[in-house]
Amino acid sequence: MTSYREFHAKSIADPEGFWGEQARLIDWQTPFTKVLDYSKPPFAKWFVGGRTNLCHNAIDRHLSTRGDQAALIYVSTEVDQEKTYTFRQLHREVNRFAGILMGLGVGRGDRVLIYMPMVPEAVFAMLACTRIGAIHSVVFGGFASHSLATRIDDAQPKVIVSADAGSRAGRVVPYKGLLDEAIALAKFPPRNVVMINRGLAELKLVAGRDLDYAKLREQHMNDEVPCEWLESNEPSYVLYTSGTTGKPKGVQRDTGGYAVALTASMKHIFCGNAGETYFSTSDIGWVVGHSYIVYGPLLAGMATVLYEGTPIRPDGGVWWSIVEKYKVTSMFSAPTAIRVLKKQDPAFLSRYDLSSLRLLFLAGEPLDEPTARWIADGIKKPIIDNFWQTETGWPILAICRGVEALPSKFGSPGLPVYGYDVRLFNEMTGTEVGDNEKGVVGINGPLPPGCMSTVWGDDERFVQTYWKSIPNRIVYSTFDWGIRDSDGYFLILGRTDDVINVAGHRLGTREIEESLSSHANVAEVAVVGVADQLKGQVAMAFAVLKDPSKIATPELKRAHEGEMMKVVDEQLGAVARPARVHFVTVLPKTRSGKLLRRSIQAICEGRDPGDLTTIEDPSALEQVRAAVKSG
Ligand code: AMP
Repeated sequence: MTSYREFHAKSIADPEGFWGEQARLIDWQTPFTKVLDYSKPPFAKWFVGGRTNLCHNAIDRHLSTRGDQAALIYVSTEVDQEKTYTFRQLHREVNRFAGILMGLGVGRGDRVLIYMPMVPEAVFAMLACTRIGAIHSVVFGGFASHSLATRIDDAQPKVIVSADAGSRAGRVVPYKGLLDEAIALAKFPPRNVVMINRGLAELKLVAGRDLDYAKLREQHMNDEVPCEWLESNEPSYVLYTSGTTGKPKGVQRDTGGYAVALTASMKHIFCGNAGETYFSTSDIGWVVGHSYIVYGPLLAGMATVLYEGTPIRPDGGVWWSIVEKYKVTSMFSAPTAIRVLKKQDPAFLSRYDLSSLRLLFLAGEPLDEPTARWIADGIKKPIIDNFWQTETGWPILAICRGVEALPSKFGSPGLPVYGYDVRLFNEMTGTEVGDNEKGVVGINGPLPPGCMSTVWGDDERFVQTYWKSIPNRIVYSTFDWGIRDSDGYFLILGRTDDVINVAGHRLGTREIEESLSSHANVAEVAVVGVADQLKGQVAMAFAVLKDPSKIATPELKRAHEGEMMKVVDEQLGAVARPARVHFVTVLPKTRSGKLLRRSIQAICEGRDPGDLTTIEDPSALEQVRAAVKSG
């Protein structure tokens, strides 16, 4: 048996040999001629010339061996429904959906935007796209019309797939109104909208544009749609994520590299075997949902649980009851969810038979030690913290127990995962820092298979944003601070840029600022991420008003704050709503006009605001302090 360190070393020293071997884990219709083409760094092309299909590997290739085994297990505690689709049934539904899309003129390379709650049809739609070589772009159901419109304009989908409504904690969340608004705002509206009618909210179809899924499905009941064999580097999907600017970036993923990387990760990291059950509590709108609700488990021949609901409805034992009922072997969740469970009766942790469960994976935000210990002691299973990003599509740091069960250290996501040459750099000089010193987490190119191939439609932005931010180097920046201990274990200390992480949801403070600025009475606004016990971070806003008389009394102030929050709710969605909007008459800035966000953040968190020699007006910080103090 190779040790993990040898395994990792081989992946870096001989990427072609290493990944050539891993590529055998999937089916290729045409073998590749070259494992890696890195002739135009930082653009890495994996498995050049190979032809494959994600949907074939996720479904079709399992039909002969496990066609009648569970593939998709839908559990909704929102609408009290449970339904299991075998691989064969999933195959049928995906063929029907593929037939629908093709009937609407969607083909290879066309985009399909999926704005959906956690229902099986969302998964059918994703797999139908990859089946026919169309590029899906799933937009998180919690986003509102403005967020949706910017994504429509960037991806320019031919078709949008959506539903009448989602449901959150028993409350119906209508989608159609937001979708109609977004399409009205968009410069590049779709030709057609396929609507899934769940019967939860009123649904008015726009004649000539909107189509009823149930009717279309009837028409395509017996369609058999062959898989479109794509060259490994053709895109499979685009997933938007937040960055430093207000404009979200479309993370573009390839086909062959992604299929290989995910299948390998199921073996080496997630220890999942065909015929077993995987349960990720994420949402299909996020990268974890793409990689580890939909593609990863199915690629591995596992059943995957699609859960619609919260962790505590009907009670705090609901997830563990799912583990017991469906004999879940690997589970994936986020630290925030565990912190929510921590507030529930601890008896829930021992009420169900968890003997099938081997490992609990947690990612998306820093996992604090008390939370990790609480859940590890409570369920008596190893907890595997893993660090990665929308951009990479699968873990950068983890303990790869499928290779060697090295010990975990609480507070650390572990060691660099095979394929990733992870380094720490001094942010000013670009030199590497030593053990136990803080630096920016960077990755030497080429990025391994499965990572983003570029920013959708903007190669230059990919290079400038990710590969040129560390001085004197061309390395990929994760935009996270980290420290490595003398055993090689990393600790992640938070972002270096203006991205914040609220309950595992990634948000750009600039997007929130832009939204708040659209309120008629806002002259200027700053948004920072502030540490929060439950959510990890929350957004905190400080606004300068054009007409301060509008907040002359405490009642008016509260009303104004509510109004501003509503703007964010309506434009971006409630996930982006700031916890508070504080009012000030001036914002802390440098003499050159740069907002001193770090100082504002430090004050909010009760820390020292740092070097203030360049501040233009010191009274601005006093105002921030007073605002925070007054609550
Ligand atoms: P996203 O692209 O939404 O997955 O967000 C990626 C960001 O989440 C990373 O850049 C980190 O800041 C943070 N993150 C993800 N996983 C972890 C983890 N295990 N520990 C600490 N931070 C994490």
